[in-house]
Amino acid sequence: MPSNAVLHVADVHKSFGGLRALSDIDLQVMEGTTHAIIGPNGAGKSTLLNVCIGRLAPDTGAVVFDGEVITGKQPYEINQMGIVRVFQTPEIFPDLTLLQNVMVPAFAKHDGAFKLNPMQAMAKRTEIIDDAMHCLNDVGLAHQKDAVAASLSRGDKRRLELAMGLVQNPRLLLLDEPTAGMSRHDTNSTIDLLKKFKGRGMTKVIIEHDMHVVFSLADRVTVLAQGRIIADGPPDQVRGNPKVQEAYLGGTH
Ligand code: ADP
Ligand code: MG
Repeated sequence: MPSNAVLHVADVHKSFGGLRALSDIDLQVMEGTTHAIIGPNGAGKSTLLNVCIGRLAPDTGAVVFDGEVITGKQPYEINQMGIVRVFQTPEIFPDLTLLQNVMVPAFAKHDGAFKLNPMQAMAKRTEIIDDAMHCLNDVGLAHQKDAVAASLSRGDKRRLELAMGLVQNPRLLLLDEPTAGMSRHDTNSTIDLLKKFKGRGMTKVIIEHDMHVVFSLADRVTVLAQGRIIADGPPDQVRGNPKVQEAYLGGTH
């Protein structure tokens, strides 16, 4: 494995009863890249994601993160190691303000903050508010910091979720179908937002069934179909691959 692979899914197989959801999955996500994992519905994307974050155990194979085998670890342990999943979960807190929403994962990240003496706790709180505001600003929501999260549009809720992920300062950010169920307008605004974060050096994996969403964002694309990798490479190379065209035209997409 090259030294700059942040994540290595090594020869993973996963079946549900007689159904092979993942077969022979071997893929590497390189440091600082945006790596898209795409495929039609039922291809195995969610299963792969759940294997990576510790929600599902692979039947065989392993997941290596930052050189350490994480297979068998609990989801919270994997999260603490720096793999942060956004969209779909964690959900936002609808009754809290935007700032409070982003402060929750920031506090969780600084565990031990509650054991501080009052002066230290005050300083820590100020630091956490600064971090949270910085992230809200990054996603374009700073001006609405005191609004209640429930009042946001769907696109803005995704922005808020992204801020909640960013405040954890992830080593690897997993974006789970960032535009699922969105209007064209909200989809475009989410793509524009994600483009802003491209090139910042953060390693990102985007799981997506709509291949058009990811081609403008990804440095590398892995295509899954029926639990197998059918193509892997730079977007332009993958886009022209007849197997990929066929998987999409023949699939349930
Ligand atoms: P995708 O996210 O690409 O749409 P999934 O990973 O959700 O695909 O599903 C891959 C295959 O595994 C599908 O055939 C799906 O029905 C099946 N599957 C997923 N999760 C389970 C489960 N918990 N039990 C049984 N079958 C499952
Ligand atoms: Mg899925």
